[in-house]
This record gives sequence, structure tokens and C-alpha cells, in this order.
Amino acid sequence: MVDLQAVLDSIYKELTPRIGEGKVADYIPELAKIDPNQFGMTISTVDGKVYSVGDAAVPFSIQSISKVFMLTLALGKVGESLWKRVGREPSGSAFNSIVQLEHEGGIPRNPFINAGAIAVTDVVMAGHAPREAIGELLRFVRYLADDESVTIDEKVARSETQTGYRNFALANFMRAYKNIDHPVEHVLGVYFHQCALSMTCEQLARAGLFLAARGSNPVTGHSVVSPKRARRINAMMLMCGHYDGSGDFAYHVGLPGKSGVGGGIFAVAPGVASIAVWSPGLNKVGNSQLGAVALEMLAARTGWSIFGD
Ligand code: GLN
Repeated sequence: MVDLQAVLDSIYKELTPRIGEGKVADYIPELAKIDPNQFGMTISTVDGKVYSVGDAAVPFSIQSISKVFMLTLALGKVGESLWKRVGREPSGSAFNSIVQLEHEGGIPRNPFINAGAIAVTDVVMAGHAPREAIGELLRFVRYLADDESVTIDEKVARSETQTGYRNFALANFMRAYKNIDHPVEHVLGVYFHQCALSMTCEQLARAGLFLAARGSNPVTGHSVVSPKRARRINAMMLMCGHYDGSGDFAYHVGLPGKSGVGGGIFAVAPGVASIAVWSPGLNKVGNSQLGAVALEMLAARTGWSIFGD
């Protein structure tokens, strides 16, 4: 068995001179203020061990990684009928792209691009006031992470509400196609709050461990989804989790993963471990630059790529 703490330490040491690379997301003013000189990483194994390095206990804005948790909730609510509202194909375009949506009659390509995630949020809202839907998600994530201290950063949510013009455009567009049932301001209110979930690498790795362990968290004993559903959520992350960088991520890392513009990446080595990495500087397609490099190093040193060692 590889010494995972030694692997993390070596990755951190090698990447230290590069910390600060990439560009923090500046289209959300509150995220533009984040110090890019931070890097943290946590591995949580299915046999209950946790290994961390760097700023793994510093909370950050998980942004689009929240889409994995919302997808899990939506599938729990409406099951496979979710796929009438959103597709399962990689988009090959930017996370906030509008053109594709018109081409495809208001049905977003997948639940991880913004349009798809907004439609998924609309599904979760059925029968709830917006505030209740936010509460449901927060409770769910706290349950997954087994940690009541997970919070939503209201400043980030507000900042995005004030500047999220493209997301308003996407939601209005889908509403015109009747793929959004609730008022656009309500759906986006929930969506911006889910994106503003603030978590540490340690919390995130634990919250997502069920995806590495056939749907149940072996540490908390919480059963979350069936093994089949866990497998399918992982499939979606592999194909769509990094937007138009998904192919590149599969090529270099070879693990299902989901990125967020806060600089976090959550990844799954099925049957083995969940991993969270955070480094705020992003590459051109909006994925954490060093986060992806760190995961590539991890996969190479552990042989965890799902495509073989
Ligand atoms: N809240 C961000 C947005 O909607 C999420 C995008 C991301 O993390 N890729 O633009």
C-alpha cells in the first residue's frame, strides 16, 4: 500500500513554487478578493483514514461542486424522470454557454453546466419555498459531511445575485421553453446560495465519500444512494464534471471529478477514496490549474486512474 501522507507531502513540496498560478474567478466580485496563494488537499479513504496537506482546513467557496449534491437530491426526489429536464452528454462548451441551449430547445446538455444545474435546482424546489430548499440542501450537505459547521457564505451569494447576468439569461431562456417552473429570481436565489456553500477540503472529501463507497459513507455509516446511483453520478462527473476541460481531465487524471470556480476540485477513486483539492487560480476553462496538476500527480503515484495503472 502506498504511503498516502508521503504522496501528499511530496505533491505539496513539488507544487509549492507554483502556488499562485492561474487566475482567480473575477466575474463574481467576492471571489476576486481571494488570495491565490493557497493550496490544500485531502484524501479520505473508504477504510476511514484521512490524509491532508496545506490549507486543507480553510473553508472556500465550493461553487459548481455543489451541483453534485443538488443532482443527488434531485435524483432522490424524482428519480430517472429528471432526465426529461436535462441531458447526460458532455457539452464541449463553456459552463455558462447560451448558444447550445437554443439549439437544443431549452434542455441543457447535462446537470453540471450552469443551465443544467439551474434546471436541477428548479426540480429540487418543487413544493418548497426558496428558503426551505436552501435549508434542505444545507442540511443534506451537513449530514453528508457529518459536520454542522458547514455554512453558506451570504456575501458570495449576494455578490453573485448582483452580477449573475448570464445565469439570469440562461434561466429566463429555459423558462421560455417551460423547463423552469418557478420564478427565475427564486430559482437563482437558491442556485446562488448552493454555489456559495463554504467548505474545507476535509469536509468536502468526507461529504463526497459515499460516491467512492457504493453510495454509503463508511465513516459515518450514512446510507445516501444505491450503488447503482453512485456509479451513475460518477459517470456524469467523468464525462461532464470539468465542462469543456472534461476530456483533458480524463486524459491526465482519469478520475470522475467536479470542479468549481472557487478553485476546488472534488474527485473520486471508486472503491478506494474521495479527494478534495483547492487552489484558487483557474485555467482558461475555469478549472483549478494546480488542483488538476495535483490530482494528476496523485493518480500517477497511486495508480488510481479508473483506466488502469
Ligand atoms: N456560481 C458560478 C456560476 O454560476 C458557478 C460556476 C462554476 O463554478 N463553474 O457562474
